[in-house]
Amino acid sequence: MAIIIDGKKISKDIKDELRAQVELLKKKNFEVTLCVIQVGDDPASTIYVRNKKKACEYVGIKSLAYELPEETSQEQLIDIIHELNERPDINGILVQLPLPKHIDEDKIIQAISPDKDVDGFHPQSVGRLSIGQKGFVSCTPAGVVQLLKRYNFPIEGKECVIVGRSNIVGKPMAMLMLRENATVTVCHSRTKNLAEITKRADILIVAIGKSKFITREYIKDGAIVIDVGMHRDENNKLSGDVDYDDVLDKVSAITPVPGGVGPMTIAMLMYNCVESAMA
Ligand code: NAP
Repeated sequence: MAIIIDGKKISKDIKDELRAQVELLKKKNFEVTLCVIQVGDDPASTIYVRNKKKACEYVGIKSLAYELPEETSQEQLIDIIHELNERPDINGILVQLPLPKHIDEDKIIQAISPDKDVDGFHPQSVGRLSIGQKGFVSCTPAGVVQLLKRYNFPIEGKECVIVGRSNIVGKPMAMLMLRENATVTVCHSRTKNLAEITKRADILIVAIGKSKFITREYIKDGAIVIDVGMHRDENNKLSGDVDYDDVLDKVSAITPVPGGVGPMTIAMLMYNCVESAMA
């Protein structure tokens, strides 16, 4: 029987640990503060921002919200970020992506001080991760490592195959698994004979953005499968990049969608905020 990796429980455990830490900081008159900036009113972004605020409330982190109109210019947004960079009371700055088309996301990410880059997207954070220095790590891949560790799945020396090489999931995921001493292979849309490679994986991490793409033919018996994908169908039902029902009897452990990787992302955002405050 496969282990169903319970991301909801692990994320709650992490948030409870952080809540205790924040409580201690409050006793020393120190408040942890995250500033979330949303430009425009994209409905999905509004839900993500709301969930981040809810998590802040749960953990005891103060959240400041900037809800800026769609027409906000790049310069205006950068000015606001520069002001927030200077404010000692703010520990983390998060700009909800995607941004309206007239704003260059890379420029905005680079405007955030690396010391407050709790999303871990700044080139300096990415660089630190790749050379093994301390810094903020992108929340979703950091959450995946927490899932593996808290279930005591050994990582060292394991064959880890990551499908997807995005800047926010695939690439930082590869760096983190290397840091954990896995043997790492990264696949992408130009990879030839994908199934031959994924079948080598003791740990298969999938982040391709295609619903139920990975079926049992891609999986080695007894593999641990981590499904980062998230898709909503016309009936509002969620699915991942892995065909869960098809692979279930072949894997030793798997993350479900929903309730696997998803809840971990916000928990790790809270973790980064607390780390920032304690730095
Ligand atoms: P992305 O930026 O679209 O990247 C997708 C990656 O998959 C690319 O590197 C692409 O290769 C690769 N790919 C696409 N088709 C492929 C194929 N047929 N075979 C092999 N590789 C293929 O996506 P992302 O932002 O990393 O997100 C991936 C999924 O994770 C999405 O479903 C997203 O919603 C989900 N997600 C979930 C969370 C969470 O909190 N749970 C967070 C972030 C993302 P190329 O580079 O060659 O194009």
